[in-house]
Amino acid sequence: MNGRRWIAALAAAALCAAGTTDAFARESIRAATTIGMVADLVRQVGGGRVEVDALMGPGVDPHLYKPTSTDAARLNKADVIFYSGLMLEGRMGDLFAKLARTGKKVYATTESVPESRLTEPAEFAGHYDPHIWFDVSMWAETVPTIVKGLSEVDPSGKEIYGKNGADLTARLAGLDEWCKATAAEVPEAGRILVTSHDAYNYFGRAYGFKVIGLQGVSTVSEAGLADMASLVDFIKKQKVKAIFVETSVNPAAIKRVAEDAGVQIGGELYSDAMGEPGVKKLGFDTGTYDGMVRYNLTTIVNALK
Ligand SMILES: [Zn+2]
Repeated sequence: MNGRRWIAALAAAALCAAGTTDAFARESIRAATTIGMVADLVRQVGGGRVEVDALMGPGVDPHLYKPTSTDAARLNKADVIFYSGLMLEGRMGDLFAKLARTGKKVYATTESVPESRLTEPAEFAGHYDPHIWFDVSMWAETVPTIVKGLSEVDPSGKEIYGKNGADLTARLAGLDEWCKATAAEVPEAGRILVTSHDAYNYFGRAYGFKVIGLQGVSTVSEAGLADMASLVDFIKKQKVKAIFVETSVNPAAIKRVAEDAGVQIGGELYSDAMGEPGVKKLGFDTGTYDGMVRYNLTTIVNALK
């Protein structure tokens, strides 16, 4: 190819690429989400048709998260909004209600989780425990809401969303099986999970761990001295091998408990936020829901078995 033809070919390719991008931008649906675990599932159901804008990145605590003015603009620009719900994003509730009143399509993905599967721990004062993503079979119950939401704003993609949703549900069933098998590597008596806050109740119920959190279900209230002393006693009596810190919660209190109880920190777990996309830990991409679940359980099992 001579020089001039080469340039012409390049220009044609660039035009073609620009055309494709434009067409994509016009046709694709914009979805805004809160926590990464919701964003990940919306991406998988949406496939190439949906652009996902996740407001809460790695290390962000959804209980305490206050929407910024930029967030309001991002939510306004979206065709559809998915959040987790059950009061997880406590300070965003008013904004979501306001947007819904203006006609924006807003969905709490947990609305399709059967109420019979939700628990109301005493420390959460009459509210449901919102941390359902660590029981993979429960998180899979949010897929129908995502399929419904995307199909409502983009009816021509309905079939694709339905198929992607079914494929995703099958993958999540596989992940759930993997979790059960991996958890079983720790003898039953040793399956005690001590962490900063009560994010793992559903996890414990699904995979057979007794779960103790230093703070209540939400991170809003800080751990008191009495809680710390009784937790130290518990750890000593039960001969717990390791306790864990969380990436989105201040580790100071749990580190002090570890020191007082003479027990090691078994690692850092993801609870209410995922990791950096593409950064692998123990071989898992913790910036994905699948990788985060596998990394957490592997960390727990390695420390306790
Ligand atoms: Zn939490």
